[in-house]
Amino acid sequence: MASQEQNHLHFLVIPLGSPGHYIPTIDIAKLLAQHGVQVTIISTPVNTIRFGSILDQAIQSGLSITFLELPFRYREFGLPEGCECLDDLPNFSYAKALMEGYASLQILVEQHIEKLERKPDCIVSDSFMLWAGETAKKFQIPRVIFDGMNCFTQMCNHMLYLSKVYENVGDSDTFVVPGLPDCIELKKSQLPFTFNSGSRHNSDFSEKVRISEAEAYGVFVNSFRELEQEYADEYKRVKGDKVWCIGPLSLCYKDATEQVQRGNKSSINKNECLEWLDSRETGSVIYACLGSISRVEPDQLVELALALEACKMPFIWVVRAGHKSEKIEKWIDENGFEERTKDRGLLIRGWAPQLLVLSHPAIGGFLTHCGWNSILEGICAGVPMVTWPQFQEQFYNEKLVVQVLRIGVSVGAQNVVHLGEEEKSGVVVKSEDFKKAIEILMEEREDRRKRAIELSMLARKAIEEGGSSHENLRQLIEDIRNQTKIKDVS
Ligand code: UDP
Repeated sequence: MASQEQNHLHFLVIPLGSPGHYIPTIDIAKLLAQHGVQVTIISTPVNTIRFGSILDQAIQSGLSITFLELPFRYREFGLPEGCECLDDLPNFSYAKALMEGYASLQILVEQHIEKLERKPDCIVSDSFMLWAGETAKKFQIPRVIFDGMNCFTQMCNHMLYLSKVYENVGDSDTFVVPGLPDCIELKKSQLPFTFNSGSRHNSDFSEKVRISEAEAYGVFVNSFRELEQEYADEYKRVKGDKVWCIGPLSLCYKDATEQVQRGNKSSINKNECLEWLDSRETGSVIYACLGSISRVEPDQLVELALALEACKMPFIWVVRAGHKSEKIEKWIDENGFEERTKDRGLLIRGWAPQLLVLSHPAIGGFLTHCGWNSILEGICAGVPMVTWPQFQEQFYNEKLVVQVLRIGVSVGAQNVVHLGEEEKSGVVVKSEDFKKAIEILMEEREDRRKRAIELSMLARKAIEEGGSSHENLRQLIEDIRNQTKIKDVS
């Protein structure tokens, strides 16, 4: 696949230390290398092992991917030893220190670039890594950003930013996001931090991200055109064509050994997990997982657990409450929940092998917090979803899943629960609400399932040679090669 000229290109990839960003960025690195590009991933010691090991096989097979492992100065930034990722932090109040730790890598990256005989042809960086924009400017390297969101979200943000429609409404008033192909109704209380920061005022950072994004050469999107065509086309128009939908990225892992390694060491043995799933009927299991960084309050998790029990169907529940784990474990133990549901419930404490689980035929529904990676992984598996958005752009994602794609049922959450503010919110969704949504999804699911399966087939086509995402990546590489040629001539 790779021509000599393609081999010549060198991309520097700079991920952000949060699983929902790091995981797909590693996938981008793999895809670029599959297209013949030489890739260097800027990394830190723990993250190299945690996120990088999935690439071992690809590297052994000859793909040109190198990790530039830089030291991470935990102590200097007040971080516990070994904490390089948002979900490792004792709590969210350390997030700022983590970002400062990442910013301290800038100088090391620049020293590395200075020493290179030939500068990288492109920087692919997470849009929250603002310093990467400065570095790109300094060395005049085109920068393609990645923020892990879809085109639907980008357009919602764009239209809200332009119209400011949310400014003149009360928190719980419903309004229509103007200028979109669908009639998308939201409440201000459901909007991401940028438009709804609540008591915390950090619009400064959001504004810096917005400016840095506007200065970037272009944007990678983990989505595929056929999924959200009108939004993808419109976003492209808004960004002067420099948008490349190259997903679904998770589809670059075909075998179970790789799938089980994605994002972290799985807390359950692969065979044990597969045996449990194999023993269930096709489409009978509901899989509940709330992503990597949400820290839902134990009392709220109890409501979810009771609903899973009351639904009387097989389930997998990924239990993760960070520093609040002890409290939920105490409830599980004292309440006898695990014992009572042991014939049909599997609890995974820690990290679930999500790709492996979702792609098993026993899975009939996915209760998700609406993180975009999770949703797209659900779509790839052809699994309809119960949507329980929590923070950031997750209420947009719910609209996309439930209203636009019509492959989901909402639990009816009303407000964003900002990261680190979970305690303030307490219980917002009751057990009956979860139960109702799960039952509707599992009992009346044929239409939704049919659509989800159709989308999963389109997703697979998009990443094949000649498919839209495959072609988009090829075009981006072509585009960067042209940039390089122009630079070489001038
Ligand atoms: N994930 C996983 N196992 C877990 C939790 C999360 O593999 O137990 C992966 C999931 O497959 C997805 C990512 O972590 O790729 C989470 O990203 P998402 O955008 O869904 O949510 P976030 O964690 O950013 O809120």
